[in-house]
Amino acid sequence: MRYYDNVVELIGNTPLVRLRNVTAGLSSTVLAKVEYFNPGGSVKDRIALRMVEDAEKSGLLKPGGTIVEPTSGNTGVGLALVAQLRGYRCVFVCPDKVSEDKQNVLRAYGAEVVVCPTAVAPEDPRSYYNVSDRLAREIPGAWKPDQYANPANPRSHYEETGPELWEQTEGRITHFVAGVGTGGTISGIGRYLKEVSGGKVRIIGADPEGSVYSGGTGRPYLVEGVGEDFWPTTYDKSIADEIVEVSDKESFAMTRRLAREEGLLVGGSCGMAAVAALRVAAAAGPDAVVVVLLPDGGRGYLSKIFNDEWMGRYGFLSTGSEAEATVAEV
Ligand code: PMP
Repeated sequence: MRYYDNVVELIGNTPLVRLRNVTAGLSSTVLAKVEYFNPGGSVKDRIALRMVEDAEKSGLLKPGGTIVEPTSGNTGVGLALVAQLRGYRCVFVCPDKVSEDKQNVLRAYGAEVVVCPTAVAPEDPRSYYNVSDRLAREIPGAWKPDQYANPANPRSHYEETGPELWEQTEGRITHFVAGVGTGGTISGIGRYLKEVSGGKVRIIGADPEGSVYSGGTGRPYLVEGVGEDFWPTTYDKSIADEIVEVSDKESFAMTRRLAREEGLLVGGSCGMAAVAALRVAAAAGPDAVVVVLLPDGGRGYLSKIFNDEWMGRYGFLSTGSEAEATVAEV
């Protein structure tokens, strides 16, 4: 019989898929590392597993312990998945702007979700940062992974995702492109690829317009999971050779194209990274092998990026008539 003992064994070893249509006119090869094939649906399963394993080894997380983290998204799903199989309780703290669907995904995996008001200052005791700190202090046996400061986050990519890419491309990768949130992905994979190639692989970060990584101050943007208004310790500034700035409009237009033209229903940060990858590919020669990491799937964004009304409200439909065009085509 051929089977996996449990779902956690399915984390990692995600496929590389060539982008064939959005690359029209480009001579280089562009490959997507499709992370929605992880069992929790995102790249964050990888760091969740590694952070839990490290905390178990160092004794910070003991049998029957509780994982407390301020997260509403992919990291929460990864942690909940791992926690469930190992008998830990999960308490996630999120601001009330987070959609009910996202909260319900976490609850579906057995996690408890504490919702805090968005409209309070970070120093307010009711803010979600402060509530998660207080719960981590008060709940006996609580442990806070803190993905923005946990070295296990970049290390999981240095030890696993990076070597996967090197093996899958048989050492022929020339450029690696990834969006930057905590910076764990680009710092870990980037460091590995630079070391193994003797500095030959070029590392490119993709960042939403306005975020600190591309020189901004944290001005609001709508793409989720990437860009920051502070510098997390998980981001290694010495790794990226270049940071490409991408607007929300370009990111979302490309996200839609990936679904329609490549059959890849992915999230907005994937569209953003793909825009950067195509720019890089356009400037590179025919021998270039550009790999772009696509962090998650698109199901969580159906009411936003894939909804014409929402896109139109923010002026993201290119001519304002895409909705009509779709109807006309039918
Ligand atoms: N895209 C999405 C959807 C994410 O959730 C994240 C993680 N915040 C990223 C991209 C960026 O990954 P990293 O935190 O490793 O920089």
